[in-house]
Amino acid sequence: MDPDFQPVSIQAGEGAYLIASDGKRYLDGNSSIWTNLHGHRHPKLDAALFDQLGRIAHSSFLGLTHEPAARLASELVSYANHPDLLPVLSRVFFSDDGSTAMEAGLKMILQSFAQNGQAQRKDFISPDGAYHGDTLGAMSLGKSDTFHHHYRPVLFPTRRVMAPACYRCPFNRAKPELEDARLYRKCNFECADIADEEIQRAGDRLAAWVLEPRVQGAAGMIMHPVGYAQRTAAAARKVGAKVLFDEVLTGCHRTGTPLAAHAEGVMPDIVALAKGLTGGYLPLAATLTTEEVFSSFLGEPEKTFFHGHSYSANPLGCSVASANLNLLSQQDTQKKMNRVFQTLKKVSQRFWNHPHVGDVRQEGGILAIEMVANRATRASFQSKERRGAKICRAAQDFGLLTRPIGDVLVLMPPFCCTEDEIEKMAEALYQGIHKEISS
Ligand code: PMP
Repeated sequence: MDPDFQPVSIQAGEGAYLIASDGKRYLDGNSSIWTNLHGHRHPKLDAALFDQLGRIAHSSFLGLTHEPAARLASELVSYANHPDLLPVLSRVFFSDDGSTAMEAGLKMILQSFAQNGQAQRKDFISPDGAYHGDTLGAMSLGKSDTFHHHYRPVLFPTRRVMAPACYRCPFNRAKPELEDARLYRKCNFECADIADEEIQRAGDRLAAWVLEPRVQGAAGMIMHPVGYAQRTAAAARKVGAKVLFDEVLTGCHRTGTPLAAHAEGVMPDIVALAKGLTGGYLPLAATLTTEEVFSSFLGEPEKTFFHGHSYSANPLGCSVASANLNLLSQQDTQKKMNRVFQTLKKVSQRFWNHPHVGDVRQEGGILAIEMVANRATRASFQSKERRGAKICRAAQDFGLLTRPIGDVLVLMPPFCCTEDEIEKMAEALYQGIHKEISS
């Protein structure tokens, strides 16, 4: 960590803007680390919060329940399922954040198999670069050297397969083009075959195939070719394993559908949601699963799922999450979302003008721009040059706040953004690139 680093101190927010304590206004270019959906201080979300505050801020969820959680659970079941897809996710387990939602998911799978006479199913497979949170279980499923290498000696071992990262794929024979590498890739979908083979090798020891469907966020917004999630989920089911999707980032319409899984035409057996669940207001997470998994916990007291956090299903969070789902269901929000997706698509083209842009990829409300030392060879800059961080620091002076992942720049605007605001974000990022890397 740089001891001289001086963070901007945020005092207030308004729509797409973050306002610093010195009064300077910044566009929130990554939706406050991928959480905010409708902008800051949305009147409907504020009202839901104040309304609940008038009743109670928190009561324990251990052995008790409350109306905001019960209501939200039923709304989430309607929201997360798709009329044409199975299995149905009918049960909801609340926790606090993305890491704990994944932690609960993996414990649920292990215990459920053990209670169903398959205690040997302890293996997990996830792709290179996977990131599922910072707790030890979630880190064990993770495959990011940056985040995990210090802890590897104490993490439980999990299996790794190559990431379906078309731009840097060793099987992609295509020369670089000025387009999302997924669209011009020349390969035989080897990444899915490799995952399939590893899944078969694990066979009846496999507990779950774990995937951030469509977009591996912290890996560098690696966007998968269409069909990868569906094919690999089918392979896992063939050997009797569960499919655990981490939709902490991709869920809640960030990629355009309630779950990214819907666009892939596949449902997981367990899904983790957090980040956008409260529209970016409060820490709340949910792990949804099937009736089949749920029923393996019924019976003797020892079969109980002993996992509870002090703030599980916090009523304030649940009330805001209900208001958020209500907003997401409205036509006006759908229109705003589409405007964001289309405008991002439009502004994305401009980045190709800079010769050090190697790949530009987009899934719904997520735009990623990968900077490279050499476009023709796809060679990266040396990580110690910290180009991505420097570009984002420079963009700050042009009124944009966003965080890179290595040399991958990210724009993920809240859905309230106007065309003009997204164009300003892109302009600031573009200026930042020009300032840091001469063309
Ligand atoms: N999974 C994914 C895909 C994430 O992007 C993140 C957070 N960046 C997490 C899990 C962990 O979520 P949290 O920070 O809320 O614990």
